[in-house]
Amino acid sequence: MNLLKKYFLPTSYVENIKAITPERLKNMGVNTVMTDLDNTLVAFDEPDADNEVVEWFSNLKENGINVMILSNGKSGRVGTFCEPNGFQYICSARKPLSKNFRRAVKEMNADIENTVMVGDQLMTDIFGANRVNMKSILVIPVKDKDGLATILNRRMERMIMRYFNKRGLLSKED
Ligand SMILES: [Mg+2]
Repeated sequence: MNLLKKYFLPTSYVENIKAITPERLKNMGVNTVMTDLDNTLVAFDEPDADNEVVEWFSNLKENGINVMILSNGKSGRVGTFCEPNGFQYICSARKPLSKNFRRAVKEMNADIENTVMVGDQLMTDIFGANRVNMKSILVIPVKDKDGLATILNRRMERMIMRYFNKRGLLSKED
């Protein structure tokens, strides 16, 4: 297995969080979700959660699936988003470093094997998950614009995506 596959290929690839249903997660053997915030749940420049996001969280919880936000964003941005809704979170997570992936799993009383990372970026969300052998789901970014810190990552990501696409390794599921 080559290194690009090992580190950057997600377990699954879907359009957006709406496709990430309790059924899909149960089929993957997952009872805990770590999710990125910016361009995964809402656009990177949207301060608040919308109804869709709030419903996604409550639907998962009603089905016995715990959810936590694992974001590289600063405490102001992430706290403003999470606290009104009671979302658990870790901010300034420094993905793809492993430390906060492990800390998040611990805080959720979960096991890495039963946890999935949901995110829109190969270089942070998927790479970080793969480094600790966590399952991962890649989503299409909510907005095709990013914050400054992400621009270089996107350039590398496009190259890796092209590699996967050419080999038929990454196809979007319904
Ligand atoms: Mg993101």
